[in-house]
Amino acid sequence: MQSKSGFYTTTYKIRLYTNHLNYIKNTEVIYNETILKYYNLLFDNLEFLNLSNQNCLRELEKLTIKSKTGEKPKDYIEQDIPMYLRRAAINQAIGYVRSYQTALNNKMSSNNLENTELLRNSLNEKQKTKITINKATAFHSSIMLYKGMYKDLYEDRITIKLFDGESWRWFPTKIKGRKINENAEILSPSIVVKKDLVMLHLPVKEEIEDVTPIKERMQQEHIQVCGISFSNTDSFAICVVLDESKNIIKAKFIKGGNEYRNATHTILAKIKKHKQNGQKFSQRDHKHYWEKLNNISDYYAHKVSKEIINFCIENNAPIIAIADMEEDVSKHFGKKVGKYSPIYLRKRIISYLQYKAFKQGILITKVRRNYTASKCYICRTNIKRNGSKYNCENGHQGDYFFNSAMNIAIMCLKKFGK
Ligand SMILES: [Zn+2]
Repeated sequence: MQSKSGFYTTTYKIRLYTNHLNYIKNTEVIYNETILKYYNLLFDNLEFLNLSNQNCLRELEKLTIKSKTGEKPKDYIEQDIPMYLRRAAINQAIGYVRSYQTALNNKMSSNNLENTELLRNSLNEKQKTKITINKATAFHSSIMLYKGMYKDLYEDRITIKLFDGESWRWFPTKIKGRKINENAEILSPSIVVKKDLVMLHLPVKEEIEDVTPIKERMQQEHIQVCGISFSNTDSFAICVVLDESKNIIKAKFIKGGNEYRNATHTILAKIKKHKQNGQKFSQRDHKHYWEKLNNISDYYAHKVSKEIINFCIENNAPIIAIADMEEDVSKHFGKKVGKYSPIYLRKRIISYLQYKAFKQGILITKVRRNYTASKCYICRTNIKRNGSKYNCENGHQGDYFFNSAMNIAIMCLKKFGK
């Protein structure tokens, strides 16, 4: 069977090194002023919203730009801005007005005002103001670079057009190396400024090798699946790859649980001490601790999900099976499982796993969790848990979480008739 391909877009966030932060800020100001001008103009011409974005843009340009013969139209805007930056700004403005209209309509319908058009006309002035949403008076959007505003984009550099206070000029700029797949299509980047830190956000559209739906995929010959269970021990995840005859191809315990627990507990202890001393948290302290906990969690969730994907690639398993469990881990593992324990990361690991897997052409399926943890995978009798070990009524014994992973993989094979 032939595999089907598909597409996936990721945004790379790349550090941009510039000596011209002020030029970038200049350009950002001009960009946002332009958005505002067209935003207001579009409110005066709301009928344009019935057009496609492209035609809407064309109409707005007709109103504001000199004709070929040099005549000024009625809403002529004096502007020194490159065409492609203006167009990005206009599209941004169209987007803002459209979402304004949607928000307004939602607000009206939530007030049980069904026919908005009709009712708006029949409302008196006081009522009208009641359901108005404030229009924006300023924008703070990041500069969107259409082609024509940037060139020479390589792994470590990009040339961008900026306003230096007098004119628009090209500036070759270094970026932090990030390898981009040769076959990937690069969409419009944007320049994101946060204080003195400048980032280039680069959306990249990549082809995915295999988007064959799971049912079709499971009909392929020699299919292998990877069952995964999660634990609150030193092993974040326990993975086992089975072939369609349920033979174990390979198993892996993905460690780091204790390391994660220690790292977060150190911070949690600091917070506790802070509280015991009766000290009040300044907003900065609070943010600092919270960010640290979040960064640590993020680091491990990425690490674990990446290791799972690599394991599946190495062992030729295009399907991952996990137990269908409520996202709230305390329901399954008891209240005593605190936040920032390894099992607490399950949700985040799975969400990262989902997009990482998809990019690699690996699919994730959920199986019913019934008995995956309570029966022996060999003989299906009830098991007795003893710490991280188990034994069953027929004397089989082994790792408790490995047994779960086996059951999950087996259930996945069964689910698709293997
Ligand atoms: Zn058994």
